[in-house]
Amino acid sequence: MNIYGQTLTQLENYFTTLGENPAKGKLLFRSLYQEKITDFAQISSFKATLRCQLAKDFSLTLPKLVTQLTDHNACKFLFALEDSNLIEAVLMQQKFGFSLCLSTQVGCNMACAFCQSGRFKKVRNLSAAEMTAQLLAVEQLTQNKIVNVVLMGIGEPFDNYEQVMAFIHIISQAQGLSIGLRHITVSTCGIVPAIIQYGHEPIHGQLAISLHSANDQLRSQLMPANRRYPLSELMLAVDDYLAHTRKKVMLEYILLKDLNDSSACAEELARLIGNRRRCQVNLIRYNETQNSGFYASDWDRCLNFYQILKQHHLTVTIRREFGATLNAACGQLRADYETI
Ligand code: SAH
Repeated sequence: MNIYGQTLTQLENYFTTLGENPAKGKLLFRSLYQEKITDFAQISSFKATLRCQLAKDFSLTLPKLVTQLTDHNACKFLFALEDSNLIEAVLMQQKFGFSLCLSTQVGCNMACAFCQSGRFKKVRNLSAAEMTAQLLAVEQLTQNKIVNVVLMGIGEPFDNYEQVMAFIHIISQAQGLSIGLRHITVSTCGIVPAIIQYGHEPIHGQLAISLHSANDQLRSQLMPANRRYPLSELMLAVDDYLAHTRKKVMLEYILLKDLNDSSACAEELARLIGNRRRCQVNLIRYNETQNSGFYASDWDRCLNFYQILKQHHLTVTIRREFGATLNAACGQLRADYETI
């Protein structure tokens, strides 16, 4: 079993079953995530028999780097997992430090029309260990400390709920990587029951919802998940989340030329949000992907859309573009690699 999938509680229980002091769990977390040991033999505070036992019970497996591409503010990595499946991660240099965009599944079943990831059907979920190991591998390769994590790579995090929650527990642990919960964002295409469940968790990160349209008909065309969870239900889930947390909800909106970028679409979005003050809109320029048939909106349309939302006193940001020259948008790295 890969050690990087173990939560602190699981490790404490493990030590208890061995008849050891459960406090060793914290020591092990420190060794794994702060000292970054690569072999259990390096844990000098544990006696030799315990180090051997750990080596028998657990592995310290990181994914293998297949290829890496860098531009001025982003670096993308293609990794091979133990079963040779490929996943991708993108490291972005932000003003506040390094942010990592991680994959949560091999492939994705959500089939969003504009997204490259949908071209590869879901093969399997990633384990919490594989998600944590992606992060450690990027830190090891770049020698950078990651301070922010967004689950916006390949896959639908809420279609892999348990492992994603375990991952959040592991990376936020104070004795470990200690990534603040405010700096961990789960992005979903709108899986209603999972949004509600997430809001009721004792420990959870931030929530982003890929909205992309405030109109059921258009949203169902762009995102088939909307047929199962239409906007009325989605907004009820958002209300439940807002009622149970003090957090905000980030609504992501890719501006697609002549599809969802008109003034009427902006008005419709403002109406959908209504007086939910903790809902914020993040406008995203579409990263044009090969043969997708979708195009980025012109800048004047983006600004017009932005201004209309502002007139409605909404909090709106336009996302800085990362990795556009690297084709780092969701699924693009793997798509490029597999067509070579
Ligand atoms: N399944 C989750 C997370 C993965 S997609 C979700 O739907 O939120 C992460 C984000 O990237 C989503 O908002 C998705 O809609 C967006 N995205 C996908 N392809 C894109 C592209 N070519 N350009 C810009 N954003 C894209």
